[in-house]
Amino acid sequence: MRSKMVILLLPILFFISVASAAVAVDRGDRTYDVIIVGGGIAGLTAAFSLADYDLLLLEKEKQVGGRATSGQYQGISYARGTEYLGKPEAPLAEIISTLGLTLREIPAPADVVSHRGRMFFGDYGKARLLIDNSSLGGFNRFAEKILTAYEDYDDIPDTVLRGELQRLDTITARQWFAENSFAPIYSDIYNVTFRGLFGANIDEISALSALPELAFDFEGFERLDEDDDLAEEYKDDRNSTGMYSFDRGIAEIPLAIASHLGDRLRTGTTVTAVERTGDLFAVTCAQAGNTRITYRAKAVILATPSAITLNIAGGVLGEEQRQILGSVSYAPYVTIALFSEAPIFNQAFDLAVPDGLLFTDIYDATWIARHFNAKANTQQSWVTLLYVAPVSYRNTALLSMQDQELMSTALTQLDRILPGSSGLIKKWEITRFRYGYPVMTPGSYQRMTRLQAITGGGLYLAGDYLVYPTFEAAASSGQLAARRVMDWFED
Ligand SMILES: Cc1cc2nc3c(=O)[nH]c(=O)nc-3n(C[C@H](O)[C@H](O)[C@H](O)COP(=O)(O)OP(=O)(O)OC[C@H]3O[C@@H](n4cnc5c(N)ncnc54)[C@H](O)[C@@H]3O)c2cc1C
Repeated sequence: MRSKMVILLLPILFFISVASAAVAVDRGDRTYDVIIVGGGIAGLTAAFSLADYDLLLLEKEKQVGGRATSGQYQGISYARGTEYLGKPEAPLAEIISTLGLTLREIPAPADVVSHRGRMFFGDYGKARLLIDNSSLGGFNRFAEKILTAYEDYDDIPDTVLRGELQRLDTITARQWFAENSFAPIYSDIYNVTFRGLFGANIDEISALSALPELAFDFEGFERLDEDDDLAEEYKDDRNSTGMYSFDRGIAEIPLAIASHLGDRLRTGTTVTAVERTGDLFAVTCAQAGNTRITYRAKAVILATPSAITLNIAGGVLGEEQRQILGSVSYAPYVTIALFSEAPIFNQAFDLAVPDGLLFTDIYDATWIARHFNAKANTQQSWVTLLYVAPVSYRNTALLSMQDQELMSTALTQLDRILPGSSGLIKKWEITRFRYGYPVMTPGSYQRMTRLQAITGGGLYLAGDYLVYPTFEAAASSGQLAARRVMDWFED
């Protein structure tokens, strides 16, 4: 949305750069309805939902997407962070259809587990692995326990914490597994799943935060009998994976929202302070070339990781808000893209590696292109992604480990799983995430619910530390913040 002021100033602005034009237009005399800080999916969804308002979205990096950006290698897109989604619901489903994006269900087999030198493909393979290392009765009991607990679960912040759910928020996933005497294979396998999915291990995350991921594995489960043919029971699941992405990866969504927002998005703009001036908020930013500028707005949504939110807006937040934001820990995370002219692993989308290695997952970034995008150059160009989660979120050594050391450990270990693969690699790229995942330690659901309850008055929060650390939940947090802004304007 362009202000009348832009039209009036056009002749004057003719001789000055676009960046300084923004300064001249916005300094002092323009008040936005709402300013959104952070162009990850939370901030972008908030902006998408508030499209009828006079808004400005400020993003530090040159590109939007935050933890969901893609790289390009010889026509193939590869994820640097977010890889896939479950079946999108509102608000993502609405964004995808409004912006005309083509969602792809990831072809089966989407998941394969490598365990002590053997590969177990799909849901059937995982069931086989768990049963063979425990018992059929133990497998039934595990699945039923999870699904029973999951019956009352709703997405955050709608989960009502009472009874068993409230208790599961107070204990670790390990404690829950132990009190149910699940066989060791369950904690061995799921510990690596949790590290890969949350950047934290089974001793660190709450049982409640493990629940949705565990339930995802047992959707539609029916008790198995000794005389059931396992392969037959899982036959129907082999075509549907319930995992989704796009030809150009998940980053298609942030990029499409960014182009939908047009000049209401300002990239390369780092917010350094949010303060109150009378009834308004003053949002101060640093732009390229060290230009400083202060924008004004009636409402603000902070869609940055909690530590950054605390840093830039500590002065306008209440004491309890500051205390909760300060209590959120983040897991560091690293991804490594390996570029080769021959496949390293091309039999499934995600190879999970629960064998105590540096990385927890190996993704084939060409999987979708090979199935759906005939033009992609997947015969000569291959991209394989290593997801390097810390053994414990407290261990930040990953962030400071030199590239050479990281690569030599990763490649040595890769050869153990997929012999000879390191010799195929021509190039590589490392991406480090200081704020990889907000860690859902015991008590985190209670903290998140409380933080939402004490937030309002024109200043709202969004981001995955308030919900569940997934792309889709982060989008929902953005939509919720937008709704609260609309309600506030109505009041
Ligand atoms: C390696 C990895 C893999 C993942 N894989 C998946 C997956 O496959 N599926 C899934 O559902 N989820 C996945 N996730 C989780 C998912 O990526 C996140 O939950 C989600 O993207 C978080 O979105 P957000 O908007 O809350 O935060 P972010 O994406 O971190 O966005 C915050 C934005 O704020 C900007 N910013 C920061 N400081 C400032 C400032 N001072 N001024 C202006 N802007 C600022 C940042 O540059 C960033 O763009 C993964 C996460 C990681 C780290």
